Amino acid sequence: MSSIVEQIREYEQQAAIIEPDAAQRAVLLDKVNTYTESFLDRLKDRPAYINSEERGKGILASPIAEQGMDIDAILHLYQKQVEEQGLSPVSGKFFGYIPPCSMYYSALGDYMAAIANEYVGDYSNCPGAVHMENQLLDWMAGLVGYPDTALGTLASGGSVAILTCIVTAREAFKLKARDYENAVVYLTEITHHAMSKGLHIAGMRECVQRNVPMDEKFRMRPDALAEMIKADREQGLTPWMVVGSSGTTDLGSVDQLDKIGEVAKQHELWYHIDGAYGAFFVLSDLVKDKFKGVELSDSIVMNPHKGLHTPFGLGAAIVKDGELLYKAHFHTANYMQDSFYNKDQVSPADVGPELTRHFRALRLWLPLKLIGVAPFRAMLNEKILLTRYAYEQINAIPGMEVGPEPELSIFAFRYVDTDDPDAFNKKLIEALREDGTIFLSSTVINGHYMIRFAILSYRTHKETIDIAVDTINRLKEQLL
Ligand SMILES: *Cc1c(COP(=O)(O)O)cnc(C)c1O
Repeated sequence: MSSIVEQIREYEQQAAIIEPDAAQRAVLLDKVNTYTESFLDRLKDRPAYINSEERGKGILASPIAEQGMDIDAILHLYQKQVEEQGLSPVSGKFFGYIPPCSMYYSALGDYMAAIANEYVGDYSNCPGAVHMENQLLDWMAGLVGYPDTALGTLASGGSVAILTCIVTAREAFKLKARDYENAVVYLTEITHHAMSKGLHIAGMRECVQRNVPMDEKFRMRPDALAEMIKADREQGLTPWMVVGSSGTTDLGSVDQLDKIGEVAKQHELWYHIDGAYGAFFVLSDLVKDKFKGVELSDSIVMNPHKGLHTPFGLGAAIVKDGELLYKAHFHTANYMQDSFYNKDQVSPADVGPELTRHFRALRLWLPLKLIGVAPFRAMLNEKILLTRYAYEQINAIPGMEVGPEPELSIFAFRYVDTDDPDAFNKKLIEALREDGTIFLSSTVINGHYMIRFAILSYRTHKETIDIAVDTINRLKEQLL
């Protein structure tokens, strides 16, 4: 017996370092805080992109080992290999893809969430944390005009949120595997690929995906949609879902959500809106009218990790008839019998794919409670105006061709005063990457290679746009 006790004691001692004491915590926190403060300080002068031969491989040169390392050495390794190579998504000079940022307040929320690790699968265990999550979802549902019947889930991002909506729509229509090849989804050529990826993952790869023609503003044409639905019905197919976008990734174009909604309702289709990038612009008075009809949708995805600048890992799926979300996701098991007794509040595990989940609500709740909604409205308004300003500046450069006027905070452009615009603009993107001051990404619109200018970071201001326009101009001149 005593030898067991001795061994237990010995292992306990060896493992004790897993929980640092108060003095050790103070040292660690101070070191990490010193690092993050210096990171924020360096960020002001950091190029958006740092090209490196090494490509972070130094991480691999330091293998995971039995013994730990000194915190100073770890922070040094991190700084050299992670911070100082590649893209900085939190730079205000990042204009590629969708450029979100990450708020300090959210970092504090994440810190608290990681320490307490509240179990947010289930209401009976951590009721306050679940109320917090549901309160945020109710707030978002309210922003898009959904009634009290709405329920949602905070997913890890837009892609998983879209998958959740697809599964809900599939169950709502009682589609079985044998029905898939007749089920039709209506989208456009520039609907985000998370939709077809989600259909694939949901096992519905066979369903028919129709690209509805777009108008000159790259919005789905409601008349064309209605015609396609009719033609498909006549052919014996099952029109199932129409996917509108409130902000496409390519161009930020917003479908006529009311007109698309009317067609969807008239033909009794599931109406999903992909607002992963753009939905939070509903907070902006400058573009609020573009969201007319958003409330007609059956489900919507909106990403706080884009429009509201939480750290990556937060996308919301909201379903107007919450019962359908619940029916599509509720599952239980014997070992869960203590948990699911309380039905006064919906447990997040019952309305989404995950059981044990990150307490991700805190990274949004803390900032909203601390500073309120008003600064977010102002920030989004600023982005809208900055984008209009940038559009004018780029348009004023001789030889530049711009895409459609920005509806939200993205537009596309290319230099055309050259024999081979596609090749020239590709070189321009490469030159921008090499230079690193700013970061832009590209796409293909109407068969042309176009450079995208996407503006979203709360760290992007008028001066940052001026730097970007100057950089584009300077590198274009160098290439010529
Ligand atoms: C970013 C984006 C997505 C995917 O969201 P993730 O959070 O990256 O998974 C879907 N749709 C649109 C319009 C997006 O911009």
